[in-house]
Amino acid sequence: MISLEAHAKINLSLDVLNKRDDGYHNLRMIMQTVQLHDTISIEKIPSGVEIDCVASYVPNNSSNIACKAAEAMISKYNLNAGVRIKIDKRIPVAAGLAGGSADAAAVIKGINTLFNLGISQNELMETGSTIGADVPYCIMGGTALAEGKGEELTSISLLKDVPILIVKPRIGVSTAWVYKNLNLDKIVDRPNTEALISAIQNRDISFIAQNMRNVLESVTVIKHPIIKKIKKNLLEEGAIGSMMSGSGPSVFGIFDDKNKAISAYNKIKKSKNECILTFTI
Ligand code: ATP
Repeated sequence: MISLEAHAKINLSLDVLNKRDDGYHNLRMIMQTVQLHDTISIEKIPSGVEIDCVASYVPNNSSNIACKAAEAMISKYNLNAGVRIKIDKRIPVAAGLAGGSADAAAVIKGINTLFNLGISQNELMETGSTIGADVPYCIMGGTALAEGKGEELTSISLLKDVPILIVKPRIGVSTAWVYKNLNLDKIVDRPNTEALISAIQNRDISFIAQNMRNVLESVTVIKHPIIKKIKKNLLEEGAIGSMMSGSGPSVFGIFDDKNKAISAYNKIKKSKNECILTFTI
């Protein structure tokens, strides 16, 4: 039996460059792992893949992405056994925090360890890319530039211990819907990705907070104006910058001081929205 933490991510920037012939978009995003995590335990069983995941809106059967990851590992490496996976879900679902991808990544890494396969991280990331575009990043973790569909990764120096307050309205957003409704010709406010990378290297938190941009935000905000309200609320409560993560609807605020983040958390948690205080890792 092995137990692993499957960490959520936030986007410090998200740019969509163009649409590809395969239907996906070419992206340019800065990804950041946070302490918030699901806990995954994996044990060997004689055969098959069993799942135990009791959480709203998450399948408790073979369509759970964690099962798909396990099946991919078992068939790719001809493993002569199966696994039982238990997911203790804490990452909000369909929230732009890559919760499913994080679980899949943990299962891939966990099976590598549990079966003593000794497979390199690069090869695990290759397997991950067959499961989902964000899975390779979740295997790698940390602070990274993600390009292509999200699977072409370059590490950036780590931006550790920055207080982050995640606020998620009690709605789910379909990533597919957001991309379908994105008009590439109408994007006006793109991130300056290079400037943000330099700011990360210099740990210039205030530049990062003020220059974070997510081109998907305007699409999701039209359907869910509450996102704009949450952004404003986070700034009023002391965040030095706030932005939607991924395709939403989670919004996060960056703080330059842990105590300010705690006091904002204590106020915002009284709202109807889910509120999580976490830190970058
Ligand atoms: P991303 O940021 O990568 O777009 P997300 O955070 O928006 O991801 P997820 O939480 O990964 O979204 O969930 C997307 C969908 O995947 C949900 O509709 C959910 O039912 C399904 N799903 C399958 N397996 C899982 C899992 N292990 N955890 C969460 N969702 C899962």
